[in-house]
Amino acid sequence: MSESKSKLIEGATGSWEIVLGLEVHAQVASKSKLFSGAAVGFGAGPNEQVSFVDAAMPGMLPVINRRCVEQAVITGLGLKAKINEWSRFDRKNYFYPDLPQGYQISQFKDPIVGEGEIEVERDDGSVFTVRIERLHLEQDAGKSIHDLDPNATMVDLNRAGTALMEIVSYPDMRSSEEAAAYVKKLRSILRYLGTCDGDMEKGNLRADVNVSVRKPGDPLGTRCEIKNVNSYRYIQQAIEYEARRQVAIIEDGGTIRQETRLFDPGKGETRSMRSKEEAHDYRYFPDPDLLPLVLDPAWIKQIEAGLPELPDAKRARLVAQYGLSTYDAGVLVIEQARADYFERAAAGRDAKLVANWVTNELLARLAKDNLDIDESPIPSDDVAGLVKLLEDGVISSKIAKEVFEHMWAGEGTPAQIVEARGLKQVSDTGALETLIGDLIAANPGQAEAVKAKPQAVGWFVGQVMKATGGKANPGSVNAILKAKLGVE
Ligand code: MN
Repeated sequence: MSESKSKLIEGATGSWEIVLGLEVHAQVASKSKLFSGAAVGFGAGPNEQVSFVDAAMPGMLPVINRRCVEQAVITGLGLKAKINEWSRFDRKNYFYPDLPQGYQISQFKDPIVGEGEIEVERDDGSVFTVRIERLHLEQDAGKSIHDLDPNATMVDLNRAGTALMEIVSYPDMRSSEEAAAYVKKLRSILRYLGTCDGDMEKGNLRADVNVSVRKPGDPLGTRCEIKNVNSYRYIQQAIEYEARRQVAIIEDGGTIRQETRLFDPGKGETRSMRSKEEAHDYRYFPDPDLLPLVLDPAWIKQIEAGLPELPDAKRARLVAQYGLSTYDAGVLVIEQARADYFERAAAGRDAKLVANWVTNELLARLAKDNLDIDESPIPSDDVAGLVKLLEDGVISSKIAKEVFEHMWAGEGTPAQIVEARGLKQVSDTGALETLIGDLIAANPGQAEAVKAKPQAVGWFVGQVMKATGGKANPGSVNAILKAKLGVE
């Protein structure tokens, strides 16, 4: 197991270590809800996707959605976790206006998925392990809307009863960067598996972050839980603020109260929401309307056999098959669509060169315009075409950047652009010889300088490039210059 790396906070009394564990709620990709046939979808009118079960009408009975169970099993297998063949649903009792049942159906003592682990990459390419404690299935609540009417709160039950996977990690992360990297990797795995779309803006993937601080080597400190943080940036900001808040309290002689807090993105602060409840406050008990969930081991095996190639395996394959660096491969595999794009473009081409163009130029341009790779105005065939022109020496890498800009603007294939704009590299040695001969004749001082100090040849190379608009083949230019000036 690869270790986490602490990023210590320097306080008045010395260094402090941040300890982080996450509970991620991931909405199960499914057409209908966990215990009813009502549709799951974003953008429907208020209360249009609510069955009698979701509205908790008296006498209505929940019926488990087989597809949601399958999605949980797929996810558990993708997290290299133990699948529990026997699990059970419990009622977690609490009152809230958008929870008409008065309880949430969740899994308490016997979740469907047990311990697992995932490998997480940091930005510098190094890897650490986060252990998964469990994954359980549960219902989401509805939504209370406080800003539609000055005198009333509106309730929309469309989300009520939607299936969630709550994925609980051990407190294995030691910096805000590691926590964000963990969520990023988890999201990537869920999207590969097709079990959650990972849309954080819509709240389909959100994290509760448990934060505590301690002096290195001390036992775990008291933690505070920051609820429902739904972007990598907010996760990092919330942790940085919260850890410093706790250090300040302890160094001031105070103690941390275990509580649930909210992150305010506007202020970049966390604030108290409620004092932390314990499990016994919820009076969990097995839901008498649902039988225990018993899975057939043969069915689990069948699901396992159908799992797709996951990011870690794909990264290892891209490194082995195409000779990519682990870092480049990691950037490509974080999204399946990226890796697919790369593999289409790399077929029959210099794969490292293709990887450079995809990870540097293309991804940077896409990020600038806030586009996903499947929305790229440049198809994978054209990246392959551009690399072919480079391989064949038709254009220089400097000109390739220019061609790329025209490709982005939709001016055609790289070959068409090079033809139409006359960007072909000048490898015609006759023309270059004449040009270089003239330059040397016109600049005898510079020529002498090169004979005395061969590195000064760069001045002539620059002049040739200027004269040819950057289209001269650098290899030919150097060879001719060296021959004419008699330097090595
Ligand atoms: Mn939960």
